[in-house]
Amino acid sequence: METVVHFINGKSVLNSADRTGNIYNPALGRTIRLVSLAEQVDAQLAIKAASDAFPSWRDTSLTKRTQIMFAFREILNARKAELAAIITEEHGKTLPDALGEVTRGLEVVEFATGLGHLLKGSFSESVSTGIDVYSIRQPLGVVGIISPFNFPAMVPMWFFPVAIASGNTVVLKPSEKNPSAAVWIAERLQEAGLPDGVFNVLQGDKVAVDELLTNPDVQSISFVGSTPIAKYVYETGTACGKRVQALGGAKNHMLVLPDADLDLVADSAINAGFGSAGERCMAISVIVAIEPIADALVEKIADRMKTLKVGDGTRSCDMGPLITKEHRDRVASYIELAVADRASVVVDGRNVTPDGDASGFWLGPTLIDNVPTTSKIYKDEIFGPVLSVVRVKSYQEGLDLINRADYGNGTAIFTNDGGAARRFQNEVEVGMIGINVPIPVPVSYYSFGGVKHSLFGDTKAHGVQGFNFFTKEKTVTSRWLDPSHGGINLGFPQN
Ligand code: NAD
Repeated sequence: METVVHFINGKSVLNSADRTGNIYNPALGRTIRLVSLAEQVDAQLAIKAASDAFPSWRDTSLTKRTQIMFAFREILNARKAELAAIITEEHGKTLPDALGEVTRGLEVVEFATGLGHLLKGSFSESVSTGIDVYSIRQPLGVVGIISPFNFPAMVPMWFFPVAIASGNTVVLKPSEKNPSAAVWIAERLQEAGLPDGVFNVLQGDKVAVDELLTNPDVQSISFVGSTPIAKYVYETGTACGKRVQALGGAKNHMLVLPDADLDLVADSAINAGFGSAGERCMAISVIVAIEPIADALVEKIADRMKTLKVGDGTRSCDMGPLITKEHRDRVASYIELAVADRASVVVDGRNVTPDGDASGFWLGPTLIDNVPTTSKIYKDEIFGPVLSVVRVKSYQEGLDLINRADYGNGTAIFTNDGGAARRFQNEVEVGMIGINVPIPVPVSYYSFGGVKHSLFGDTKAHGVQGFNFFTKEKTVTSRWLDPSHGGINLGFPQN
């Protein structure tokens, strides 16, 4: 069986040992290839390649870097269907959804082509007599990126275009569940003219992650994944003196005010709850309905769910399988819990008839009403096609619920009252807010990230914050002497 290996210093590199993981096609429910799992020595090889490539890449002109980013953008745009097919095969999401993922990643590449503007420092002339002050932004060195399974192309693209544009060299450790997209991207970067060693792909698990976190030659870590691992990565990386941004899990609420357009709300809840089988960090997983609209809303959502088609992502359907059998079983266990917790299962996804192989990791869209906020269904990140409804009596009760939650990634309010929406954006403790928009993923020139347990560290992905993360600022105070330099003066300059 084929084994997906590392891509280091511009070529495929075999692992030092034969430790491997299985890559499934979740729609077929079987292993389609294997992936190498790095030992410490393999990780060190990738870090050394990036380290060796750094001096020359950091000195490569902004013009040349821009040309390479542009060339990569053109290749990626022309061949994005190939990448989407790889994503669908190893992740399970539908082809249009995979293409959407690539397109959102492409937007960050386009943003990074503006590197000339984004890497500008500032200059102040004559801050004191004959003295100028200016700042410059310089790359960090070798940067580590560790990504999750749910966006095998887009999440790496949140970071590496900005990291490379800023003059850093990269070691990307993709999820071992679907690592082929990263290798495909590495090959396209090489075609675009990126020098060997600037972008390396290290396949692996905790062993590879731990080496990235502790190796002194790695300057920063950009991590995306579940909250417990994000916290571990943040604590270990910062204890080793690294700059770390660690984006964690989510449990996103949609607050529905009684004046909202319930048809728009129902459509949005379906799209944001069940797109990509709910395996999105910006999925809506809890609808907070302010009475008296809950009955009407639940009916509208349940009606629409009857039309959803679950199946193999290469066929015409709305939603694919879950990533592994274990994950499917874990998500399904929350539906079992609903009965014990006195919630009502309105639509049960365990009864789904998929358009695909019987062995696929299937679970249909599920709607659970009257979920108690003490239930694990409400509290845990389920990360599957399970949409909960919680009923509240007032805006304040809904807001307090959202603000008490551990996570603070995304949220949405649906209302026709501009004043209420404005108040919500001011009062809610969440990083990304949608107003009549269910999945408020910021465009590439803004920054992506949550608060609380959804982001450890203080710098978000892409946008200006991305360029700040991947560069260090130096401030220079300079004086070029002229004959009137004024002689000795032990005080601070006054004029
Ligand atoms: P995960 O935490 O299991 O894995 C993420 C990465 O960490 C992978 O590369 C994995 O190999 C590595 N890893 C796993 N266990 C590890 C360990 N013990 N030590 C060190 N590294 C380890 O996450 P996942 O299941 O791949 O992805 C889903 C999670 O990612 C969800 O919680 C989702 O909310 C989150 N996510 C968050 C965002 C965001 O922007 N906040 C975006 C996408 C996904």
